[in-house]
Amino acid sequence: MSKTVLLLPGDGIGPEIINEAEKVLRRVNETFNLGLTFDTALVGGAAIDAAGVPLPDETLNKARHASAILLGAVGGPQWDGLEMARRPEKGLLGLRSNLELFANFRPAILYPQLASASSLKPEVISGLDIMIVRELTGGIYFSEPRGVRELDNGERQGYNTYAYTESEIRRIGRVAFEAAQQRNKKLCSVDKANVLEVTVLWREIMNELAREYPDVELSHMYVDNAAMQLVRAPKQFDVIVTGNMFGDILSDEAAMLTGSIGMLPSASLNANKQGMYEPCHGSAPDIAGQGVANPLATILSGAMMLRYSLQEEEAARAIEAAVHTVLDQGLRTADIMSDDCTRATTREMGEAVLAAL
Ligand code: NAD
Repeated sequence: MSKTVLLLPGDGIGPEIINEAEKVLRRVNETFNLGLTFDTALVGGAAIDAAGVPLPDETLNKARHASAILLGAVGGPQWDGLEMARRPEKGLLGLRSNLELFANFRPAILYPQLASASSLKPEVISGLDIMIVRELTGGIYFSEPRGVRELDNGERQGYNTYAYTESEIRRIGRVAFEAAQQRNKKLCSVDKANVLEVTVLWREIMNELAREYPDVELSHMYVDNAAMQLVRAPKQFDVIVTGNMFGDILSDEAAMLTGSIGMLPSASLNANKQGMYEPCHGSAPDIAGQGVANPLATILSGAMMLRYSLQEEEAARAIEAAVHTVLDQGLRTADIMSDDCTRATTREMGEAVLAAL
């Protein structure tokens, strides 16, 4: 496979943050002699404006042939009135389903320099380092039948289906057990097996898989309890694996524990380790074009990309170390600003990371 990185800036702050991440990636490409080439394409609202659809064929084609994709964010109020099938978010869902990016990795890490940004007490949160593995292409967001129908009594009823096949559960389970093996060997599977049959099967398959990974300690937790435990004692977790909808909610909750959504990267991988990497936050239309967005989540997504899809661990670590250095220097964008620090624009933050490299 070629070593092409496809950049998808998207909408809102997307182009600003991708611009900084691209500079950082180009620098490590030279320093570490990685042999990467870069390409760019349209997605989301930007693609709707230019080509009438959120995921043009040209973009999908480039994505299929790329080794990895780095995405900014999609969406904005100017496209909110469009019908569901033509909304910017469909570009993202289309990429996930066409490339079969079934495994979503979302770390929630507390940077010691930013401990005061969390709403939790320092002793509860300090040293936090959790990885949430979320199934991304199945479950209630994709299962059929779905829709809004009219009942015999004339009342309308909205309905969705929550289904997982054994093989879908097994493949996300394996990814999560392997992730746990590379970390602290603790995996918590989150379900609602007291109410939902689909997650009774989920739990059964996870227990079956556990026999293949005897070095990993598997536990189970109901999703309502997991939501509570994440704010009560988040450090009890190492790796969490869960389905699409529970993972959507819990990973946002875990991200906010750290108090700085502008710092958190994510990765979505398929069976070939081809992946799409993006910050956890959205397109932040409220600050787009002002040059104040925090580019670090996108830069750190670039580091994850080097690690998981391009097997360039050394270059990934160099980027992560450079981010620590700029935080140690007291440089902060507006979202993570505190009293004794120096305010930086998007570009200044990107330049500081380059200098630290
Ligand atoms: P958001 O994450 O865009 O913004 C929430 C808040 O966080 C805003 O106040 C924003 O200014 C701030 N923020 C986000 N990223 C930041 C950064 N890097 N630096 C500094 N501040 C940052 O979420 P939202 O407001 O709910 O959604 C805005 C748009 O983004 C919507 O159209 C939504 O559909 C879209 N969205 C896209 C994605 C994606 O592309 N993956 C994810 C979530 C939301």
